[in-house]
Amino acid sequence: MKRLILCLILFSLQFLTLHLSAQEEPLKVRPDALPWEKEITPKAISMATSVEQMANWDRYPTYNTYLSMMEQWATEFPNLCHIDTIGTSVQGRLILSMYIEPETDDDLYRPEFFYSSTMHGDEVTGFVMMLRLIDTLLHGYGFNPQYTNLINRLRISINPLSNPDGTYHGGNNTVSGAWRYNANYVDLNRNYPDPFGSTPDDDQQVENTAMINYVSNHNFRVSANLHGGAEVMNYPWDSYRSSQNPHPDRDWWIEVCKRFIDTSRTYSNSHFRDTYNSGYTAGGDWYVISNGRQDYMNYYHNCREMTMEISSNKTLSSNQLPEYWRFLQHSLVNYIEETLIFASGDPSAINPATEREFSVYPNPTSDRIFLNVPPSNDITIYDIHGKSVLHLQKGTQCIDIRQLPKGIYILKSGDTTTKVVKQ
Ligand SMILES: [Zn+2]
Repeated sequence: MKRLILCLILFSLQFLTLHLSAQEEPLKVRPDALPWEKEITPKAISMATSVEQMANWDRYPTYNTYLSMMEQWATEFPNLCHIDTIGTSVQGRLILSMYIEPETDDDLYRPEFFYSSTMHGDEVTGFVMMLRLIDTLLHGYGFNPQYTNLINRLRISINPLSNPDGTYHGGNNTVSGAWRYNANYVDLNRNYPDPFGSTPDDDQQVENTAMINYVSNHNFRVSANLHGGAEVMNYPWDSYRSSQNPHPDRDWWIEVCKRFIDTSRTYSNSHFRDTYNSGYTAGGDWYVISNGRQDYMNYYHNCREMTMEISSNKTLSSNQLPEYWRFLQHSLVNYIEETLIFASGDPSAINPATEREFSVYPNPTSDRIFLNVPPSNDITIYDIHGKSVLHLQKGTQCIDIRQLPKGIYILKSGDTTTKVVKQ
């Protein structure tokens, strides 16, 4: 009898376990369920139920906190940004982007840049990084020369969460139950039109239809979509190995990847090493996929989009988020800056007003020198003995040096100095 009861208990337990795991397991096996995309159980997830609780950036926002943060920035900086509603998800959650452009009277051409994160709902590091990036750019405008320069010269759209149903799969108040797919169990990064002809397995999902409409109504020149599960910069194409079909801009991509990785490694040398020691790869050399967004953007929109895999763990413990921001922050900002180089074809175009090298031309010169950007600090020219010979107001872009004797001079503005030769 005892044995029978024990058997019954064991059987019920087994049934329960099977039943539970059947609910938790993916409904069908996908060909792209890759070994390195292993699920790592998050250690500690803290949620912020108010905007105030996001102050230290060591929590994930609940869905409502996320919406409140976006609304608060739009209210606080009405002349600097507005919220774009890209669309709504299967379950009716909002897909939003913060569109940053200062109100101006001029009609200067400003290239558009786009960041979009977390189309895989459980890859939430980028979600928080993008929120923090929005906050940093908006609060830094007018104070930080690099951010100010970027905002003045570009139009920057940041979509922190492109698959809200996946991220809040466990409910609006937690990301603990986040999963990769949308609410229809479709992988959104296998559901875009494919330049090389293959049709997605699933009907186009509303999240992607909305995204396609959004990018079609803009003219994004450079963009990135952010993921987790690895730390590697992944440039096009995804649909081919580079030996079969190298991307025509391969050299540019490699340069951009190197700059991103080098910068992040100056803050933490241990990251971006889990897949390739270089930290970057052509997508198809890592593994070939079809119907991904990166190739769609490159091919159909002539937009240089790459895939940034930014954290080995898809869902970091909340207290790890500040550390990731620390080593990614500058790379993420500098990647926006790549748009200036790409759009102008001039590497010196990235130079904001101060604190970084600016260039002067022509050099040597006999009469005038021009600065590629107007410095936001006063300019002083010193002779070879360190004596100040000319002082100019900030904003000056053309300097008449005809009255100076021939020789070598040092031009200084803020922390930047450059040598000028008067002939
Ligand atoms: Zn992903």
